[in-house]
Amino acid sequence: MLNAKIAKELKKLKVKTVQITIDGPKEIHDKRRPLINGKGSFDTIINNVKEVKDYFEHISIRINIDKTNEDKIIELLKYLKNERLTEGNCSPYLAFVDVSTEVCRDIEINCIDIKNRSKYMEEKVKEAYEEGINIIKYPTPMYSQCGAVKPNSFVIDPEGYMYKCWHEVGIKTLAIGNIKGNEKNKNFDRYLKWNTFNPLNYEECKNCKFLPLCMGGCPDKTLFKYRGINEESCTMYKYNLEEMLKMHLKAKLKKGFLPIPVK
Ligand code: SF4
Ligand code: SF4
Repeated sequence: MLNAKIAKELKKLKVKTVQITIDGPKEIHDKRRPLINGKGSFDTIINNVKEVKDYFEHISIRINIDKTNEDKIIELLKYLKNERLTEGNCSPYLAFVDVSTEVCRDIEINCIDIKNRSKYMEEKVKEAYEEGINIIKYPTPMYSQCGAVKPNSFVIDPEGYMYKCWHEVGIKTLAIGNIKGNEKNKNFDRYLKWNTFNPLNYEECKNCKFLPLCMGGCPDKTLFKYRGINEESCTMYKYNLEEMLKMHLKAKLKKGFLPIPVK
């Protein structure tokens, strides 16, 4: 739906950055992300990104990865490079599919765990680099892990309900308000709990040298144990920092191969 008409409106509303997601090369993406009529959405997404890229300062292309498409990601990156969607204000990045709610518990078997994600990233960053594609991010300190613990960040559902965490979207009982203003201060305690999340309250994080790069990982896992999954939410840098820094330096030293902007 992100066509030129919508992009124009968003620009007027001062939206500067958008993110779109792709689930692999066309044949994989279309199977995983069909439209309601059964047709694929890959071509539409690519055409739309090309059509709207000049309306925004930055377009982030999130590539969703799990065990079923992990071998096809370089193929997709090469395709994006040919379409000139790995340069200028477009930056693809690799992200991993995760179980977010009970509804998607059945995909857990296809998800990649944190140690294997770290290894995978290390390998793909190198392979992409060999293809002249830069997906290396410089590890930067952050003051919070995600929008859930930032005071002015909200996820808004189609009915206007506001949530703090992406995992909660659609579960109205967990909403903390509505943009129409008719449910002000709903779940205010919960809102405060998110905003007062402090990784220094947790021994493991307090004594961890990766804390500035991670700020305690996913607060949902720590605060609410939402999914009942005892999964590590540490940064991948815990397992691959040295290699990633070496790759970053290598890319930086190569003339004309500048690192992608850090968000
Ligand atoms: S890497 Fe793990 S232990 Fe260290 S700060 Fe992040 S979440 Fe805490
Ligand atoms: S709390 Fe965790 S799941 Fe929720 S938005 Fe933040 S990182 Fe994502």
